[in-house]
Amino acid sequence: MSNFLGEVHVPKRPTSILSASELMEREGLMLQKSMNFRDKDEALSVFLVLAKEDGEFKDAWDAKKLRLTFEGHDSITKETGGKSLDQLLMYGGEKLTENGKFYKAAHAFKDGTRAEPLQVQVYEKLDPGVWFDKGIFDLVDAVGVTEGGRKVFKFLLLPANSERNDRDLVLEEERFLSASVKAAAWEKAKGRCAACKLQSGLRFVQSGKNIQLLCAKDRGEASGWGLLG
Ligand SMILES: [Zn+2]
Repeated sequence: MSNFLGEVHVPKRPTSILSASELMEREGLMLQKSMNFRDKDEALSVFLVLAKEDGEFKDAWDAKKLRLTFEGHDSITKETGGKSLDQLLMYGGEKLTENGKFYKAAHAFKDGTRAEPLQVQVYEKLDPGVWFDKGIFDLVDAVGVTEGGRKVFKFLLLPANSERNDRDLVLEEERFLSASVKAAAWEKAKGRCAACKLQSGLRFVQSGKNIQLLCAKDRGEASGWGLLG
């Protein structure tokens, strides 16, 4: 971003953890759908990574290959008045579902009819009202598979190198931890710094197998966040 005065530096937030209201304001979205397709102007598409009822996350994160596999959404149809067994690409053969829009964009990129992959901003839900900014990903593939006797869609995403000025400072070590590991550490620490109980500027820090939630001071950083930081 620049203007006639030269570069404009927007300070990045010192944490990638945000509240539901911060997320909604930033994206201009309600948090009703896990997949939100947007492909024009400045707005990015958004995926929300949610835990299932058993606490396991529905989406697979391969921390070695840095691949995120995101599962499509279940579809409500007029015909059934409820969820259809299979996930769908279209409603009534004419209108694309969110699965359909992302599937089409992924295949357009694979086929070369789309030069750049669709970019998707991904958030992981750590706790009710608590979200983690996992950063921006490129949508590179989509497949339909049969799982548990029904058809579901899987979307393959790779970390994008791009970042945007209005986003958090996303740190790789933290970004590449799985949602379940972070959610467990968040719950254990009750959303506070493990050392001093502060509740702001927190990040997940890995030392060996241990993942801790720590504030900037206890990570050994100067805060560097504005004048009052
Ligand atoms: Zn602390």
